[in-house]
Amino acid sequence: MGFRYGLRLGKQTLAALVDVIWPPRSLLSDEVVDRPGVIEPELWAELQFLGPPQCAACGFPFPEPSEAELLEGALCGACLAERPPFAAARAALAYDDHARALALGLKRGARRDGLTTFAGWMAQALGPLAAEVDLIVPVPLHWTKLATRGFNQAAWLAQALGRRLQMPVAVAGMTRAKRRRSQAGLTAAQRNRNVRGAFRAGPGVKGKVVLLVDDVFTTGATAAACARALSRAGAEKVYIITLARVTKPAKIDV
Ligand SMILES: [Zn+2]
Repeated sequence: MGFRYGLRLGKQTLAALVDVIWPPRSLLSDEVVDRPGVIEPELWAELQFLGPPQCAACGFPFPEPSEAELLEGALCGACLAERPPFAAARAALAYDDHARALALGLKRGARRDGLTTFAGWMAQALGPLAAEVDLIVPVPLHWTKLATRGFNQAAWLAQALGRRLQMPVAVAGMTRAKRRRSQAGLTAAQRNRNVRGAFRAGPGVKGKVVLLVDDVFTTGATAAACARALSRAGAEKVYIITLARVTKPAKIDV
């Protein structure tokens, strides 16, 4: 009796102590916040959320839209010239210093406390497209990378989004057959070559509308290579969702 009571008291004390030593911090600063996954209002106001008007295919924002660009289904110049191999790509945030910090916290800092927040933002960015999705699949890491890092940040995002949308997630729906060089610092053409033929999709995607999840959409080379692999495996349609998307030339190191 006395021992069990003591144990319970011990647990409570420990929880209180952990909160003092290691209280929840803002996703973007050292600011102490009242619960995990929160960003203080001043920094939150600086986040650049993406939404319409945007290219119906790649999701590129139209900052000063022409009348044609305001029409539903309007495409950007790049997608008019060549339709991407996916039906549509959307992203929650424009890639800037804040988005970079969030993506790095996830990938290098292994921070899981933002996942529920990110899933909410990504669901918002998908809008009505989410209702069409049958299966969520993350962009895979090569197994050697998974072994050294210990986790796939795209899989974390996919699982969080699956919980949010209440949809099935196939964490191993795709595999990376080829170990690629890091994409950091490569041009668009180099990125395309680097990922060509790198991905395989499993039989579970056949006949499904697949939502592919990644952390950052840079040139779209990875998304396009994955979409082609999913289509080859019989996926009916492929949508892409990422936490952030490059919208202007930027140094990408995630
Ligand atoms: Zn486009």
